[in-house]
Amino acid sequence: MAVERTLCIVKPDAVEKHKAGAILARIEESGFRVCALRMTHLSRGVAEGFYEIHRQRPFFGELVQFMTRSPVVVAVLEKEGAVGAWRDLMGATDPAKAAPDTIRKLFGSNVGENATHGSDSLDNARREIGYFFPGAEVSSL
Ligand code: GDP
Repeated sequence: MAVERTLCIVKPDAVEKHKAGAILARIEESGFRVCALRMTHLSRGVAEGFYEIHRQRPFFGELVQFMTRSPVVVAVLEKEGAVGAWRDLMGATDPAKAAPDTIRKLFGSNVGENATHGSDSLDNARREIGYFFPGAEVSSL
């Protein structure tokens, strides 16, 4: 399987609960290399741009409000098959339906406040990584 990169966001609910470090530890223990990392407080415009594909969905306003509520941690993760592997480690969108020991099961609260984001395809991963990290900020070590 090819080495891929994917985007991770530790969402405001998890940062507020002081779980960013625990989540990053789980990520590293699961064999991902963290090749870019930054804490940022998303503006409304940045959050709307990131979730543009969801603009027509009924929860778009709630999602943008949540994602701009307090800081997030954005990271680029690298591993063989990273896109699928990070989705697997996160678990289902709704923490109540997520498999045991997944990050959303352990740290998420509900379908909206679900602790982490992960790119859902390689194409979206490329777009999302570029959205937050200009190329030079992504380490190739
Ligand atoms: P993901 O790929 O598992 O993150 O799920 P989606 O692409 O379907 O949704 C994107 C994000 O929107 C989710 O991670 C949630 O934070 C949020 N979301 C999804 N469904 C709902 C919902 O029914 N209500 C609210 N408030 N937020 C939702």
